[in-house]
Amino acid sequence: MHELSIVESVVDAVTETAAKYPGATVKSVKLRVGVLASVVKESLEFCWELATVGTPLAGAALVVNSVPIVVHCAACGHDSEIEGVQSLRCPNCGELAADLRQGRELEIESIEIDEPEEQQVSGLASPRVCPERPTPVNSSQETK
Ligand SMILES: [Zn+2]
Repeated sequence: MHELSIVESVVDAVTETAAKYPGATVKSVKLRVGVLASVVKESLEFCWELATVGTPLAGAALVVNSVPIVVHCAACGHDSEIEGVQSLRCPNCGELAADLRQGRELEIESIEIDEPEEQQVSGLASPRVCPERPTPVNSSQETK
């Protein structure tokens, strides 16, 4: 399954990133998937669940944002979104526009990580400070 190998590489990349934040939980992972990447969103989500079971990413949400196809038209200079590659014509002027600027993406857009609150470690870490005893000076003086 094509999607499974994609998801596995995403899991690897995210796990690597998350490892830099010990104790943190990955809440969600956003992907940018171009219309032309020929990836089925539902399959990605399905594979995501399979691939994350038993990993630190279990329970993290996968958010798939599809990226529309954008062609650049050399004739009029417009970048336009088009429905599909069946007709590579500039919607603006009707000329042939075969310069794909966007639509093949398959990348991690962002990773949302839940870092644990900075905890005040009680007891163990804090050095024990002996309560300072007032140094006994010549007793009778300077009593406030
Ligand atoms: Zn044009």
